[in-house]
Amino acid sequence: METVDQIKPEPEESFRDHLATVDAAGKRNWIYAQKPKGKWYSLRSYISWGFFLLFFTLPFIYINGQPLFLFNIPGAKFILFGKVFWPQDFFIFGLTMVTFIIFVILFTAAFGRLFCGWVCPQTIFMEMLFRKVEYLIEGDAAEQKQLAKAPWMGSKIRKKVMKHGAFYLLSFIIANTFLAYIIGVKGLGKIISEPVTEHIPGLLSILLFSGVFYAVYAYFREQVCTTICPYGRLQSVLLDRNSMIVAYDYKRGEPRGKFSKKKEVSLGDCIDCFQCVKVCPTGIDIRNGTQMECVGCTACIDACNHMMEKTGRPLNLIRYASENGISGHEPLRYTMRMKLYTGLLALLVVILSALLLSRKDVDATVMRAPGMLFQERGKDSVMNLYMVKVANKTIREVPLEVRLEGMGGQVEIVGGATIPVKREEEGAGNFFVVLPRSMIKARKTRIRLGLYEGSRKIDEIRTNFLGPVAGDGD
Ligand code: SF4
Ligand code: SF4
Repeated sequence: METVDQIKPEPEESFRDHLATVDAAGKRNWIYAQKPKGKWYSLRSYISWGFFLLFFTLPFIYINGQPLFLFNIPGAKFILFGKVFWPQDFFIFGLTMVTFIIFVILFTAAFGRLFCGWVCPQTIFMEMLFRKVEYLIEGDAAEQKQLAKAPWMGSKIRKKVMKHGAFYLLSFIIANTFLAYIIGVKGLGKIISEPVTEHIPGLLSILLFSGVFYAVYAYFREQVCTTICPYGRLQSVLLDRNSMIVAYDYKRGEPRGKFSKKKEVSLGDCIDCFQCVKVCPTGIDIRNGTQMECVGCTACIDACNHMMEKTGRPLNLIRYASENGISGHEPLRYTMRMKLYTGLLALLVVILSALLLSRKDVDATVMRAPGMLFQERGKDSVMNLYMVKVANKTIREVPLEVRLEGMGGQVEIVGGATIPVKREEEGAGNFFVVLPRSMIKARKTRIRLGLYEGSRKIDEIRTNFLGPVAGDGD
C-alpha cells in the first residue's frame, strides 16, 4: 500500500506543491510583472482614480464640525456618515461585522475574487500606484530585470534612489491619510504644526505606518496576498464550481502549441506564448486552473486577448467564467447556496436597520446611590439619592433634566437645575427623588424617570424607590 509520502503528484499538478514566488531552495523569486494593457486594465485604472479620490479626500470632509468618517480605535469612537458610535453601540458594531462577513461569503461564492482584483486597497495601491511609478522610473519588466543584474553604479543607483525615494514619499502620504482616518484631520494638523515634543506618540505612529507601507509596497508586495491575507486563505472554502473566476478555457485552448500561420487542426487556440504568465503580478500560470494565488486582477485576460487579436483567433480564451461554465458551457448560475446566504443577509440587514433607526443619541444609566436606603424629608416626605451616567453621542452639549413620569413627587438635581453633558463625552450627576409618604405603600415602589433635553424626551428609565413601610421608624 502506498503511504502518503510515497504518493507522487501528477507532473501537471506539481505547481500546487510550491509557491510561484519561492524557489526550490526556499528563496524568493522576485516577480517582474510585465505592464498590462487592454480593456480590463484601463477600466481598473479608472476605478482606481475614483478610489484614490475617495481615500485621500474623505478625511477632509466635515459636516457640522464633525468628520464624515472617523475610526478612532484607541479612543473607542467611530463616526460613520457623521453619526457617532461609542462602545455602548458595541452590539450594533458586532452585528455589522457579522453582516459584513455574510456579505463577503455570499459575494465570494458568487463573484470569486472580484473584490481583490478591483477594489482591495492592497491591489489598488500596489498595481495602480506603486507599480506604475516603478514602470515610470525603471521601465517595463525586461528593463527591470536588466537593471537588477547590472552592477551598482551610475544609472542603477540613480534609478533605485529615485524609486525608493518616491515609494517612501507615497508611503508617508498614505500613512498621514491613514492616521487622519483614526485621529481626524484636526488631530493630524496638530501633530504637524505643534512642537514635536508634544506629539511623540503621534509622530512615531506616522513613521511606523510609513515604514510598514513602504516595506509592503517595496518588498512584500504579492506576498501580502499569497501568504498573509486571511481572505485569500479562505478562497478554497468559499469558492465552488459555480463561482465566477478568471478562468482559462482549456477546452478551447488545449492541446496548446506554438503559433504557426497555418493552424494545425489538432491544436487548440493557446499558442503557449506565456504572455498571461508574464503579466501576472503573483507569478502564476492561469492555465493550471484556479489557484489560491490568483487575485483576479484580469491582467492575463488582457494579455491573452492581445495575442488572440494578433493571431486572428476569437477573444476571451481567458475570461470571467465558472468552472462549470468552462467544462460544460453552463451560464453563471444563482445556486441554492447563494439563495440561502442572500436570505440570511437580508434578515441581518433588516435587524441592523431597525437597530440603527432605534439607536438613541444619548444613552443613560440610573442607579440608586450605593449604601443608602432612604432619607426622611420633614414629616410627610421621603427621598432617595440616585446617580445618573450619560453618554452624549451628539455634537451638541445636552443639559439633561430628570422628571418623574405618571406620578406626583419631585426631582431635585444636586448642584443645579440640569446635568450638563458635553458633546461627544460622558457625564454624570446625582439627583434626589422626593415622594410624599402617602404614595409609599411598600418597601419598594416602582417609578419611571423621564430624561429630557428641554421639552424633548430622550429616554425613560424604570427603577425602584425605597421607602419605609408601616411600623418603620414610627
Ligand atoms: S492569474 Fe490572471 S487574474 Fe490571476 S493574478 Fe495572475 S494575472 Fe491576475
Ligand atoms: S496568453 Fe493566451 S495564448 Fe498565450 S499562453 Fe496564455 S493562454 Fe495561451
